[in-house]
Amino acid sequence: MTLSERDQQVIWHPYTQMQTAPAPVGIVRGEGTLLYDEEGNSYLDATSSWWVNIHGHAHPYIAKQLAAQATELQHCIFAGYTHPPAVNLAERLLPILPGHQQRVFYSDNGSTAVEVALKMCIQYWHNKGEKRTKILAFSNSYHGDTFGAMSVSSRSVFTRVFDDFLFDVHFIDTPTKDNIAALKAQVDALHPSEIAAFIFEPLVQGAGGMLMYEADVFDELLQHCHQHQIMLIADEIMTGFGRTGRNFAMENVSTPPDIICLSKGLTGGSIALGITTCTAEIYNAFLSDSKLKTLFHGHSFTANPMACVIALASLDIFLQPSCKENRVRVEEQHRQFAERLKSTPKIKNVRIQGTIIAFEIVTDTEDSYINQLGDYLHKFFKEKRIMLRPLGNTLYIMAPYCITNEQLDMVYKSIVECAEGL
Ligand SMILES: *Cc1c(COP(=O)(O)O)cnc(C)c1O
Repeated sequence: MTLSERDQQVIWHPYTQMQTAPAPVGIVRGEGTLLYDEEGNSYLDATSSWWVNIHGHAHPYIAKQLAAQATELQHCIFAGYTHPPAVNLAERLLPILPGHQQRVFYSDNGSTAVEVALKMCIQYWHNKGEKRTKILAFSNSYHGDTFGAMSVSSRSVFTRVFDDFLFDVHFIDTPTKDNIAALKAQVDALHPSEIAAFIFEPLVQGAGGMLMYEADVFDELLQHCHQHQIMLIADEIMTGFGRTGRNFAMENVSTPPDIICLSKGLTGGSIALGITTCTAEIYNAFLSDSKLKTLFHGHSFTANPMACVIALASLDIFLQPSCKENRVRVEEQHRQFAERLKSTPKIKNVRIQGTIIAFEIVTDTEDSYINQLGDYLHKFFKEKRIMLRPLGNTLYIMAPYCITNEQLDMVYKSIVECAEGL
């Protein structure tokens, strides 16, 4: 039996209707932007393996650092004990983050990083003895799949079955020049002194359909919330580590976030790790003689040393000038491609933010995640040995930064071929 056939006997895949989904492709090896299946075919990873991979697959430097750590210390309880990788990573990361981030709290993935952020905010107000219970988020937001993270995510086909079990959140539209005054009025109408936190994906809403919004009006909204001491949670899980061009998307605004959530690119996309950072103001509100003010949260694998070492290795690569140069180059290529797309009638709403380009394929039906065209597009590109995973009729490219211009051209050409053949 092939790997794919064996899989179909025993595995339940994420976000997959197992009855109708095509057989999964068995991937046995990765190198740079390429992944190889069990028959030796290569696939160009144009979605960074679900947005996580920033430096390419099986990066030799990451592998070397991991191997060294694996013979030194693999795991150790993180309450009452500590270890060099966790401390080194926190020391190196905090100074390069936007705002005045002073503390690192480790967890396992993006969703847990969001859970921790929410618990920090809710308990921050509780510890200070203030009653702030409302939470603000954007329409079309996505912050993860655990219950707290789902609650602050826009209600959608993803959450429908669970909606009755999710806590209430106030959703507002992403800002534009036209609606910014109305948005601020909406915040005011909610009584800002009752709002504990505002969680957002800065500049790009990923799972919501790669929706993008402008930094200047966003900053105006953040400033308004900041004036009312609403805790600002920047979910940089997808945008962090260069995805939007700058190191972090929050570098595009002047209002400092109180909390930042990181995962995905944090480890270069090679192992799961989540981080929630916060300001001294938040951290200090948990300091007390009373144990009741403790943040009672932790996971068995909190601050796993091997994951932290990988994050440190990824950070080394990320901070090299060549990483930034690649991001600038990819963005330039996207801009040229966007020009070409203007003459492709089947494509609309072309938008770019750093290394991400997204657009909709024109259909007769509504733009949505469950749009049937998505399945067709997925199959089309799979046959071309390009990994693109459309969000319904929204197509986007989000490749590892090391993707070459030739490889980008190959992706661009097949997108035009696909659109023209529809
Ligand atoms: C992917 C994602 C998450 C959830 O991260 P997981 O590691 O998949 O749990 C949260 N927020 C944003 C913005 C994401 O893109």
